[in-house]
Amino acid sequence: MSGEALKWPDGKRFAFTVFDDPDSQPLEESKLVYGCLMDLGLRTTMGVWPVGPYRKGNSRSESCENPAYLQHAQELQKAGFEIGFHGAALNTSNRERTQAGLDAFRGYFGSDPAAMANHFDNDEGIYFGPNRVSGIRRWIYNAATLGKQATRFNGHTAGHPYYWGDLCEQRIRYCRNFVYRDINTLARCPLMPYHDPERPLVRAWYASSEGANAALFMATLSEPNQDRLESEGGACIMYTHFGKGFCEDGKVKTEFRRLMQRLSEKNGWFVPVSTLLDYLAARKGVHSLTGRERARMEWSWLWEKLSAGSS
Ligand SMILES: [Zn+2]
Repeated sequence: MSGEALKWPDGKRFAFTVFDDPDSQPLEESKLVYGCLMDLGLRTTMGVWPVGPYRKGNSRSESCENPAYLQHAQELQKAGFEIGFHGAALNTSNRERTQAGLDAFRGYFGSDPAAMANHFDNDEGIYFGPNRVSGIRRWIYNAATLGKQATRFNGHTAGHPYYWGDLCEQRIRYCRNFVYRDINTLARCPLMPYHDPERPLVRAWYASSEGANAALFMATLSEPNQDRLESEGGACIMYTHFGKGFCEDGKVKTEFRRLMQRLSEKNGWFVPVSTLLDYLAARKGVHSLTGRERARMEWSWLWEKLSAGSS
């Protein structure tokens, strides 16, 4: 089914959400950005690290081990935001710590995370790095990255100390994979949420739109792009780090607020990531990827990654 053919609830014309990775996001800036989204009536997904270090040395990153940050996340959840999983901690976790992180998450937020995204620097990443692509595309990926990541990520490797794929399958519904330079994520990945039989420990995958920092985010959310998302009746799941350049002088950047306000005034469906994906799954099921579909999707992303550096 194409994005165009899909009807959104309550007569809404398109859908928009964000999965925000917690990298470099201090509590003060998190409060500013989420305060802005809250004021505008947007409800999105904030990824967290439930355990591990926070604000160590010159690190700006928080984890739920900071009581004030945990309280902030719990208040957002109460206000209708979704809390997502970005791995147990900001550095690599073995199986025991990943399990402890998931258990802590459940204790803090009342249930397992519905949505997750791998953290680029954690070796327990599941089907991450070159494992995102298959066959000759993996060979190309490894050649382009000089083989540095060829055997690095092992969250899906049974028996490895970092293995947690079985926990992922049992406890998490959705995992992010490909990121595209297009505001209409659903147009680039109309099959989402989809299951990949070659990566069975993730129940369903979703794609995202490029917005890794404030400049990229605002480029994707430009006025013409917003209007196109609306006219195409599409769905946007932004990939971002709200800790990377969205605030200055103790407030959110004026241009960010202006663009988000403009978007919020449209007749869009502004719900968290898993609400959006649950809706798509209910409408059209979780698609099981064929070999041909996998190849097409992987080539499309790999080409963009090698030419434009997409995430
Ligand atoms: Zn990250």
